[in-house]
Amino acid sequence: MDTSWMAKGNCRDEPPSRFFPSDGVGVEVARRICATCAVKEPCLEYALDQRVDHGVWGGASERERRRILKRRRATSAGGEGREPVPTEPSGAERTSITG
Ligand code: SF4
Repeated sequence: MDTSWMAKGNCRDEPPSRFFPSDGVGVEVARRICATCAVKEPCLEYALDQRVDHGVWGGASERERRRILKRRRATSAGGEGREPVPTEPSGAERTSITG
C-alpha cells in the first residue's frame, strides 16, 4: 500500500500523541487539524483498510471509523457506493475545546 501521502499530512509537524487523544477534547483538537489536510481521504482509507483501532485518522475517531466500516459492510451487501470522507464531527462526538 502506498503511504507516500503520510509525508504531506498536516500532522507532520505535530506531536504524534496529539492524534492518539485520551478524551473527547483531544479528539476534537486532532479533528480540527485533519479538517484542512490535503491527504485526509487517503489517510482515512489507510486506517480503514489496515483496521487501525486507535487514534484519529483522516479526521475520523475510532468510533467513527467503526461506524464507517459497519455502514460499508451493510451497503456492500446492497451494492451501494462508499461513504464520503467525513467533514464535520458528529453530534455525539462534538465537544468544546474551550471547556
Ligand atoms: S488527515 Fe489528519 S491524521 Fe491524516 S495525515 Fe492529515 S492531519 Fe495527519
